[in-house]
Amino acid sequence: MKKALIIGVTGQDGTYLSDFLLKKNYEVFGTFRRTSHKCFERLEEIKILDRINTIKADITDQVSLHNAIKKSDPDEIYNLAAQSFVGASFSQPILTSEVTGLGTLKLLETVKQIKSDVRFYQASSSEMFGNYAGIKNEKSAFFPRSPYGVAKVFAHDMTKHYREAYNIFACCGILFNHESPLRGLEFVTRRISYEIAQIKLKKRDKIRLGNIKAKRDWGFAGDYVEAMWLMLQHKIAEDYVIATGESHSVEEFLSLAVEIAGLGDWHELVEIDQSFMRPTDIDELIGDSAKANNELGWKPKVAFKELVKLMVEHDIDYVKRNVDRF
Ligand code: NDP
Ligand code: GDP
Repeated sequence: MKKALIIGVTGQDGTYLSDFLLKKNYEVFGTFRRTSHKCFERLEEIKILDRINTIKADITDQVSLHNAIKKSDPDEIYNLAAQSFVGASFSQPILTSEVTGLGTLKLLETVKQIKSDVRFYQASSSEMFGNYAGIKNEKSAFFPRSPYGVAKVFAHDMTKHYREAYNIFACCGILFNHESPLRGLEFVTRRISYEIAQIKLKKRDKIRLGNIKAKRDWGFAGDYVEAMWLMLQHKIAEDYVIATGESHSVEEFLSLAVEIAGLGDWHELVEIDQSFMRPTDIDELIGDSAKANNELGWKPKVAFKELVKLMVEHDIDYVKRNVDRF
């Protein structure tokens, strides 16, 4: 039985990846942070918490990373831990750099010292590309436009450095935005699906959004975790773009969500709120995952419309269950 250690198991991707690896018969270990409230909501929602070995660790605390690796002795490590919200990275640039950037270096250094034969996955991001127009692939240059993007470039380059300098089997998956019913409530897709569900159930009248002209290449998280695993099964450690190749605006996501919920004209439900605008934003992100398709046989399965439907229908049910978190 193979063993995998997921750093950041409580997040959206950690949950889908755990489920995927359990189905592949892995023994799954996952790290969580101590919090004053429960942090296993997602793993509980899909009913897999009792099948995972949870280990307390913080990526900024190298001792705890050392202990997590010693305890699990993994064949594969997936580094999904991050302060992952671009919006928050503007107000917390130092924390974001320490967790998302330096945290990855602490993990790589620990791997080099005590487990250099492991296969290592780094969660890189399309946010690294910034605002230069065009479809992005593995050869495209990085021009990050947020503290989060800058921290991810540091972690990405450091992962490549450890691969080249110390021969560690380390891959970076440059994943474009991927969403699901388990997406954090502050990300725009989940804000829309959740708040539209609240409007449908008469718990609010309006949704307030920022830059609704922004376009993203949105895929389904459940499809994207398979790509992470495929990278670590490949003969050679390389970096891959994972994307759908289609971009849609926030406005399109909103209008489709409103249509699915049967709520009439979306213009009447939305208010533009300047507080959701960012000091710098990315107009459009769109990726080309031909390399992953050719070398790993990966392609996305869930299309845009299906994704919006999945999220809106989930959230109508979620709000009905009275889990009101806003
Ligand atoms: P989430 O924010 O849902 O999950 C992030 C995970 O990191 C959570 O388990 C979180 O724990 C953990 N974490 C945060 N801070 C620390 C810390 N100091 N020490 C240890 N763990 C910590 O993100 P996703 O699941 O959506 O994304 C997974 C990874 O992929 C992230 O690195 C993200 O930046 C990256 N990525 C995501 C994309 C997307 O569209 N989803 C696109 C490209 C890259 P807690 O639950 O306690 O907060
Ligand atoms: P990101 O691509 O990782 O930053 O993912 P987000 O879901 O946070 O944001 C995607 C895009 O939606 C960005 O261009 C945001 O500026 C835009 N956006 C518009 N309104 C909102 C909002 O209310 N919340 C968030 N999070 N983003 C918004």
